[in-house]
Amino acid sequence: MNHVLPTRSNNGVAIYMKPSYRRKQRQASEGETDRSGRWSHAAFSFFLTFRTRKMLLSRVLPSNTTLLPTSSSHARAAPLRNRHVPAGGAITVHPVRGRSAMTVRARDAAPVLDTEPQPLKLLDRRTKLKIAVIGFGNFGQFLARTFAAQGHEVLAYSRTDYSDTARSLGVAFFDDQHDLCEQQPDVVLLATSILSAEAVLRSLPIQRLRRSTLFVDVLSVKEFPRNLFLQLLPPDFDILCTHPMFGPESGKHGWAGLPFAYDKVRIGDSDDRVERCRAFLEIFEREGCRMVEMSCAEHDETAAEIQFLTHTIGRVLAKLDLKSTPINTKGYETLLNLVQNTCSDSYELYNGLFIYNKNSTELIEKLNGALDTTKKELFERLHGIFRKQLFEGSARNFVGGGN
Ligand code: NAP
Repeated sequence: MNHVLPTRSNNGVAIYMKPSYRRKQRQASEGETDRSGRWSHAAFSFFLTFRTRKMLLSRVLPSNTTLLPTSSSHARAAPLRNRHVPAGGAITVHPVRGRSAMTVRARDAAPVLDTEPQPLKLLDRRTKLKIAVIGFGNFGQFLARTFAAQGHEVLAYSRTDYSDTARSLGVAFFDDQHDLCEQQPDVVLLATSILSAEAVLRSLPIQRLRRSTLFVDVLSVKEFPRNLFLQLLPPDFDILCTHPMFGPESGKHGWAGLPFAYDKVRIGDSDDRVERCRAFLEIFEREGCRMVEMSCAEHDETAAEIQFLTHTIGRVLAKLDLKSTPINTKGYETLLNLVQNTCSDSYELYNGLFIYNKNSTELIEKLNGALDTTKKELFERLHGIFRKQLFEGSARNFVGGGN
C-alpha cells in the first residue's frame, strides 16, 4: 500500500489514491489544460467523477471512513454490490461486471452500503432511516405505522410476539435483541413503558450496534431517560430525547398541529450525525407536528401540569363511572372524552408519570388541597346561609311570639 497516499481529509473522510490520479486531479482542479490548450479529456472526466463521487459518498458514509482504490484502473465510482463485512467493521467491495473495485474501510461502517452511483438513489438513502423500535406495544406500533408509511425501514423488538401485527405494518419483527442490533440501525427508538425502560436498556446488546448509533426515546417523562442514556450509553452514541405529546387516541386523525417536544441531549458535530438527527425530526415535521425544542427539565415541569393532571382528573372521573345521557351538555361530553382518552392508556403509563416525574408528587398534593379548598368554600357558604336563616328566623320568632 506504500504507493497509496492520502490526498485530503474532509469531514474525517480520507481519500487515498495513486500519485498519477493525484496529479490528474490537481491538473483538473487547477484548470490545467493540455498542450493544445483544451482540457485533457482524462483530467476533465476524472475531475467530474471524482468530485461527484466524493460529494455523494461524504453524505452517506459515516465519518472516519477511508476510501481506497484497490485496482490499478481508473478510480471512478464502481457499483458496490458484493459485500463482505469482516469483524473489524471494514467493508470490502469486489468487482462487479468487470468494473473497477474499491475497498471501503470504516471504523464504524454500516453494513448496508449500496452505493450504486446514481445520484438520486444516494440522496434518497440520506433521508431514509433504518429505525429499530424497542417496545412494540400500543405506542410503538402507532409510531411505526407512520415511519413505515414515510418509507423508512422499520425493525421492531418486543418481549411479546407481535410478528403478525408487524407484518401488516410492513415492519420486520425480531424476537431476539441480538439479531435486531446486528441489523445496525441508524436509530434505536426506546418505546417501552417508563417503568421497564431501565431494565430494557440494560439488556440491549449495544456492543452489536455501530458506535455512532442515534438513541431516541419517546417516554412521557424526560429527565429520567436522559439521565439513563447518559449513564448507560457509550459517549460515542448520539442521544435525542423526545415526547410526542399525543397518542393513538388523540392522534388517530393525524398529527397536524399536535405538539412534539424534543431535546438534542448529545448530537455529534459531524455532518452525517446532524443530518441523521434532522432526518428523524423531519418525520414529525412532515406530519405537521408543532415542534417544540425544550430541555428535559423544562418538559417535566410543564408536563406534570398538563399531562399528569389531565390523566389524574380522567382517572378520578372514571371512578365515578359516568354515563352518557340524552341531555349531555358540551362540558359533560368533554369529561366523557377525557375519561376515554386517558383510560385507554395503560395504568403502567400513568403510574410512570407519577413515579418518574418529581413534579407529580407536588402536583397531586396541590390538587388534593384545591379540592379541599373548593369543598370548604362551598360548605362555609352553606353554613352561612343556614346560620343566617337559623338566627334571623329565631330572632323573628322571639320578637313576634313574646307573649
Ligand atoms: P406502556 O404500558 O407505557 O408501555 C408498553 C410497552 O412497554 C410495550 O411495548 C411492552 O412490551 C413494554 N413493556 C412493559 N413492561 C415491560 C417489561 N417488563 N419488559 C419489557 N418490555 C416491557 O404503553 P404505551 O402506550 O405503549 O407507551 C409506550 C411508551 O411511550 C411509554 O414510555 C409512554 O410513556 C410513551 N408514550 C406513550 C403515549 C401514548 O399516548 N400511549 C404518548 C407518548 C409517549 P410488550 O407489549 O412486548 O409486553
